[in-house]
Amino acid sequence: MSEKLQAVKGMNDLLPPDSARWEWFEETVRALMRRYGYANIRTPIVEPTPLFVRGLGEVTDIVEKEMYSFADKLNGDELTLRPEGTAGVVRAVVQHNLLYEGGKRLFYVGPMFRHERPQKGRYRQFHQVGVEAMGFAGPDVDAEVILMARSLWRDLGLTDVRLELNSLGQPDERRAHRAALIAHFEAHADVLDEEAKRRLHSNPLRILDTKNPAMQAVVEAAPKLMDFLGEVSLKHFDSVRAVLDAVGQPYRINPRLVRGMDYYNLTVFEWVTDRLGAQGTVCGGGRYDGLIEQIGGKAAPAVGWGLGVERVLALLEESGVQVPALVPDAYAIVPDAAALAAATVTAELLRAQGLKVVLHAGGKDGPGSMKSQFKKADASGARYALVFGADELAQGMVAVKPLRAEAGAAPAPQRLLALAEAARWAAELHPAGATA
Ligand code: ATP
Ligand code: MG
Repeated sequence: MSEKLQAVKGMNDLLPPDSARWEWFEETVRALMRRYGYANIRTPIVEPTPLFVRGLGEVTDIVEKEMYSFADKLNGDELTLRPEGTAGVVRAVVQHNLLYEGGKRLFYVGPMFRHERPQKGRYRQFHQVGVEAMGFAGPDVDAEVILMARSLWRDLGLTDVRLELNSLGQPDERRAHRAALIAHFEAHADVLDEEAKRRLHSNPLRILDTKNPAMQAVVEAAPKLMDFLGEVSLKHFDSVRAVLDAVGQPYRINPRLVRGMDYYNLTVFEWVTDRLGAQGTVCGGGRYDGLIEQIGGKAAPAVGWGLGVERVLALLEESGVQVPALVPDAYAIVPDAAALAAATVTAELLRAQGLKVVLHAGGKDGPGSMKSQFKKADASGARYALVFGADELAQGMVAVKPLRAEAGAAPAPQRLLALAEAARWAAELHPAGATA
């Protein structure tokens, strides 16, 4: 035997039955997107490296240390596995001139790659769902995307997620704040850690994001960006808040919420939970009115968010949310190879009616004993066994045996049903139409 190969560290296989949770989650997401009028967009996983350097900003965690970048072996092009979804969507929107006839509401689902230290809720390949509303300048759309996330929590049955909100204003307002911030931190240079010192003149806003307990006091006392916002920015923020208030969505204004990417302006927000330890941010986003132009498009406003799928699924698990199990409706038992044709015809008929039917798979020497087949039927979780016995088949019938009894009740008796009428009784074996 050759040496076993392993998956890359921090990149996970997703196996059944867990994959069923993912499918259920993704279906819930797609239904939500349809309700809000968001269309799916799929962009490549590999993009030119300059897209992220230009789009996210050079002094960000992602660009400084987290990107999987490499040179194309054939032509030397600098390429990167996408670390987030927004830059690629913006590139595609600009490249295909999607905004020429007005705004676009888009969503994506897919893997992202960041070279981080793997730990619970933090992986090197992880997955995001994201929405991007492009070409809309008003605060109504900021509120819309925030409320989409709220709807998703409701659809998933999650209650422990709260909203944090801030405004980053406009670049000129940020410049004034930045000068005040640098002066403040320079006055307290003795408590700054290495990272903060490094960021002091490149990206001082990110110092507010620090998790270093020794710096909390000086960060708390730092000048607040909100105090530097002009009338227009404040009005935008107030309008977002007014919608949230109108629908009864509570939020906390967090002046230290600055987000990781340089591209944000005005509204920024995060949905956070206390149930996942340090990796408590499940969804983050905001407005990015400057990015489209920065990536070479005609200037257009935009707002969106990205959500960490692994974290949301961990939260579902942590919260004890039951996900509908993907069990077959029926498992077809084939006592003898001679019954295979009839069993296949009936299984196909039932599947065409929307039933989930697993047909017993035999080995080289035939289908195997009834006992082992019933064991497999039971283990599959199926609600019924269909037994294609020779005597029944001779009369054009199949035996339908309930495998699951109601709690405390005796299992329902087996019934004989006509093969020719399978399309008619199919509905009875369906959970919604079940009577037996
Ligand atoms: P963090 O502060 O936790 O590093 P971030 O600000 O880097 O998060 P974003 O770039 O805003 O994260 O990505 C949006 C969401 O994607 C996060 O809120 C989180 O739920 C998820 N996410 C980010 N990085 C990872 C990762 N390495 N593994 C799993 N999920 C992640
Ligand atoms: Mg990060």
